[in-house]
Amino acid sequence: MTRTAEAMPQGLAALDVTTKPSLAGLTRAGLAEALRAIGTPDREIRMRVSQLWHWMYFHGVRDFDAMLNVSKVMRAKLAEHFSLTRPEVVEEQVSSDGTRKWLIRMPPVDKLEASRSLGAEVECVYIPESDRGTLCVSSQVGCTLNCTFCHTGTQKLVRNLTTQEIVSQLIVARERLGDFPGLTPPDNGLIPSGEGVRAVSNIVFMGMGEPLYNFENVRDAVEILSDGDGLSLSKRRITVSTSGVVPEIGRLGEEAGAALAISLHAVRDELRDKLVPLNKKYPIKELLQACRDYPGASNARRITFEYVMLKGINDTPAEARELVRLLKGIPAKINLIPFNPWPGAPYECSDWETIEKFSDIVFNAGYASPVRTPRGRDILAACGQLKSETEKLRARARLAAETD
Ligand code: SAH
Ligand code: SF4
Repeated sequence: MTRTAEAMPQGLAALDVTTKPSLAGLTRAGLAEALRAIGTPDREIRMRVSQLWHWMYFHGVRDFDAMLNVSKVMRAKLAEHFSLTRPEVVEEQVSSDGTRKWLIRMPPVDKLEASRSLGAEVECVYIPESDRGTLCVSSQVGCTLNCTFCHTGTQKLVRNLTTQEIVSQLIVARERLGDFPGLTPPDNGLIPSGEGVRAVSNIVFMGMGEPLYNFENVRDAVEILSDGDGLSLSKRRITVSTSGVVPEIGRLGEEAGAALAISLHAVRDELRDKLVPLNKKYPIKELLQACRDYPGASNARRITFEYVMLKGINDTPAEARELVRLLKGIPAKINLIPFNPWPGAPYECSDWETIEKFSDIVFNAGYASPVRTPRGRDILAACGQLKSETEKLRARARLAAETD
């Protein structure tokens, strides 16, 4: 494991933020509003938005002066009022298996955050494989849902990320991975590359937070990420994972068109109530009905069911058989996730033999490649291990302020 310290959070000096709002990560509507605010005539707005869009999201430029088809006068005006600043990567960790975890600090979004000189911090993980590169993005800082096996759920501080903050995670990742025209990938051979191969080909909303509790921002982010004039990821390769916010599931299919993943983890309500407390509100039957009704689900676009393997809790052959029975009639994939431990976790990962037995039953019922290999465990980058240091930093900032 290697660590790269770019601008380590050693104190308030590192917390300098630009005062000009950044345009990077905005929706078309957001860009139009920004242009209007600086007096751009209405008849020009559409064209200007398209220009900005292409430069920002296709080319990934960081400087208005690089926008060659925009007039010099306009470029100067844009630079006077706005920036193209990205959120700061305060820490990068690279696992021995090539997985990268970035701790990303967002600029403050409101007066309260600004007065504390601290914006939100989230973790974002990149997982390279031979044929794809997956970016695991966060949708919230922390999570309100307290699933008992999840580290993120123990983080107290919670807020929704803005659309811009969600999209910025991909921009930052692609920059770090040399995945914009004219950039060079880091030289360690683990990043998929070659003709037509993107370093980031897939996005999963499986980082911090419950994406369906931040519906509008996630939906708008999916729209930007998949826009063919810019970042151009296929919607089929953007997966939103939910712990089961039933009323928003149909909307996700209709309004975002992203692939769906469900964190199931148990086949009985009694147990699921404990593991995923949201189950008390939306029990398994209702959750599975929402999946049956999911717009666009088909054998070509299957719903992923995630099932974390917890030793002695949910891992018996009888539960595997029940899982298969429950999912009958739903176009499904099953992802068995070996539990990733974190300090103080009340569970252990099932034994390999137990996982194999469970997986055989699922496999024999016709579900392919069911066990997810844990990636980046040495840097706590695996599922459910994410937890940003924002709380600690806040404490440190307060201390510094008091000392002042
Ligand atoms: N809140 C959403 C998305 C983020 S969690 C959700 O719950 O689906 C992403 C996935 O990681 C979920 O399937 C979650 O159940 C799983 N997960 C959480 N903690 C884990 C842990 N310690 N080990 C393995 N998987 C975990
Ligand atoms: Fe939140 Fe998902 Fe973790 Fe549950 S598993 S606490 S919903 S991030």
